[in-house]
Amino acid sequence: MEKETRGKLMRIIASAVLLAAAYIIDHSFALPLWGRLLVYLVPYLTAGIGVLREAAENIAHGEVFDEDFLMCVATLGALSIGFLPGAEPEFAEAVFVMLFYEVGELFSDIAEGHSRDSISQLMDIRPDSANVERNGEVLTVAPDTVSVGETILIKPGEKVPMDGVVLEGDSSLDTVALTGESVPRDVGPCDSVVSGCVNLSGVLRVRVTKLFGESTASKILDLVENAGENKSRSENFITKFAHIYTPFVVFSAVALALLPPLFSGDFAGNFATWLARALTFLVVSCPCALVISVPLTFFGGIGGASKKGVLIKGSNYMETLSRTGTVVFDKTGTLTKGVFEVTAVHPQQCDETKLLHLAAHVERYSTHPIALSLRQAYANEADSCSVTDIREVAGQGVCANINGSIVCVGNERMMEAVGAGWKPCHHVGTIIHVSIDGEYAGHIVISDKMKEDAAEAIKALKAAGVGRTVMLTGDREAIGKYVADELGLDEYHAELLPADKVTYVEKLLSEKAPGQTLAFVGDGINDAPVLARADIGIAMGALGSDAAIEAADIVLMDDKPSKIALAIRLAKRTMRIARENIIFALAVKLLVLVMAAFGAAPMWLAVFADVGVTVIAVLNAVRALK
Ligand code: ADP
Ligand code: MG
Repeated sequence: MEKETRGKLMRIIASAVLLAAAYIIDHSFALPLWGRLLVYLVPYLTAGIGVLREAAENIAHGEVFDEDFLMCVATLGALSIGFLPGAEPEFAEAVFVMLFYEVGELFSDIAEGHSRDSISQLMDIRPDSANVERNGEVLTVAPDTVSVGETILIKPGEKVPMDGVVLEGDSSLDTVALTGESVPRDVGPCDSVVSGCVNLSGVLRVRVTKLFGESTASKILDLVENAGENKSRSENFITKFAHIYTPFVVFSAVALALLPPLFSGDFAGNFATWLARALTFLVVSCPCALVISVPLTFFGGIGGASKKGVLIKGSNYMETLSRTGTVVFDKTGTLTKGVFEVTAVHPQQCDETKLLHLAAHVERYSTHPIALSLRQAYANEADSCSVTDIREVAGQGVCANINGSIVCVGNERMMEAVGAGWKPCHHVGTIIHVSIDGEYAGHIVISDKMKEDAAEAIKALKAAGVGRTVMLTGDREAIGKYVADELGLDEYHAELLPADKVTYVEKLLSEKAPGQTLAFVGDGINDAPVLARADIGIAMGALGSDAAIEAADIVLMDDKPSKIALAIRLAKRTMRIARENIIFALAVKLLVLVMAAFGAAPMWLAVFADVGVTVIAVLNAVRALK
C-alpha cells in the first residue's frame, strides 16, 4: 500500500474512534448546542480536512462544481442545520457522511494502485543500465548514453537495454513482458535483439543499432503511458456530464431548500426541513462513482491487454475495436509466416545459381519477406558485385543495376512493365520472375507456410461476432484462393497493388453495417496507407518494427493472428463493464434523488447509496484488468 493510502486509512480509523467517543460524550452530558458542535468537529476535521482543503483549492482555481465541493457544502450544511429554529441537529450524520466519503476514496485509491501494479509488470521492460565496451574496458553506464554502433555486453539475467544485432554468443531471450508469450526465443550471431527482453542463458555481444530513446522498450513504454490521453467517447461523456450535472444539482438543491417553504406560507417553520432534504439531495448527487470508475475501467482494460502483448494506443480505440464487424487481412506476414522457401528454380537463359545470385543481389536492401528469403537462398550474397540504382516498386518487385546490367525481380506485373516476355509456371507457389536488361531470364518458385494459428484465428473472430473476414493480397489469384479456402475466409481479392488495397478497404468501409467498424490487420511492411484508412489499424509482429508501432492504432507484439480475436473480446468486456457502471450508478442515484426530494431518504442512506455505488463500481472496474 502506498504511503498516501496508508495515511488515509489511519485518518479514517482515528476519525471513526473519535466519532464513537463524541457520540458517547454527547449522550452522557447535557452539552449546549455549540459544545456538541465542538465535540463532533474533532472527528469531522480528522476525516475531512483533506477534502475541505481540496475543495478550497479547486475554488481558488475556478473549478467550483466538483464532488469535493458537493461533499463540503452538504456536510457543513448538516453541521449548521441544528442552529436553525425547529430543526433537529445532524452533527453525527455530518461526520458520518464525511467519513464514508473518505472510505469510498480509499477504496478507489487501492483499486487504482492495484491496476498500476499490474501494469508495472509490463513497465518492468525498462532497462536500467548497459555494459558498454569502450577502449578495451567494459563500463556500466546509463543506457541513454550509449550511441549507435557501440558494442554492449548482455549477461544472463540482464535485460536487453537497446535494440541491436548479435555479434557473438548464443542465448535464449525471454520475451514474455513484451509479447505475453512464454516460449523463449533463441538468438545467435547476426540475429537482432530488441530491448525489454531478458537474456536467459549465454553472454551476448551486441552491436547497438538504435539509440535508447528509439528502441522498442522506450517506444512501448511511451505508448502505454500516453494511452490515457486518447480519451474514449464514454469517458468524454462522463467529463461533459459532470460539468453540466453538478451545477444543475447545486441549483436544484438551492431551489429545493427555498421554493417549497416560500410557497407553503410559513417560511421560517418549514425552511429547516427542506434545507435538510436539499443537503441530502446534494450528497446523493455526487457523481464520484462515474468519475472514478469509468477511467479506471479503461485503464484496467488497456493494462490487461498489454500484459497479453496487445498494445492499445488509447481508450477510444478500445471502443472502436469492441464494435468490429469486418476484419481485413493482408496475406504475407499476417496470415502466412512470410518465410518463403525456394521450391524450384527455372532458368531460361542462364544456370540456376546465376539466377539465384542475381535475385539475391537485387533484393540486397529490401525488407520485404520475399527479399529476406531470396537472400537466404543464396549463401554468398555479400560478395564483391556492385549493386546500384535500386528501385523498389511496392506490390511488384525490385530493379537494380548489377555489374552494369539492369536486373528486375518481381511478379508478372513487373515483367510487363519492363517488357520481358515472361513464361507461366505450373508449380503452386509465389512465382518470382527475373529479367536481365529487359530479356526474360526465368523464374524462382517460392512458397510460404500458413501460420499455425491462422485458421483458428478466423474461427475465433467469427465466434467474437465478426461477420465478415476478407483477405487482400498482392500475390497471384491461385495463391489467394488457396489460402482463403484453407483458412475459411469469407472473401479474398488477389493481384492488388498497395493503392488497390486502399480502394478495396474504402469499398468495404462503405458496405459495413451502421455502428460497426472495420479493422485492417497488416505486418506494417508497405501497408501503412491501409492501416491509416481503416477504422482501426492493427499491426502485428511489431517486436522490432517501429514503422508498425507508429502506423497502427493497435499493436500486436508477436505475430499471432489469434491475438486479434482476443483483443476484440477484451475490448468488448471493457466496454460492457464501463456501461454497466454508468447504468447502475445513474439508476441508483436517480432513485435516491427522488426519495431525497420527497424527504424519504435520510442523509445516512444517501451517503450509503453514494459510497456503496462507488465501491461496487470500482470493484467492477477492477475486473477489466483480469
Ligand atoms: P501481400 O499483399 O501478400 O502482403 P505485397 O503487396 O507485399 O504482398 O506484394 C505483392 C507481390 O509483389 C508479391 O507477391 C511479389 O510477387 C511482388 N513483390 C513485392 N515485393 C517484392 C520484392 N521485394 N521482391 C520480389 N517480389 C516482390
Ligand atoms: Mg505485405
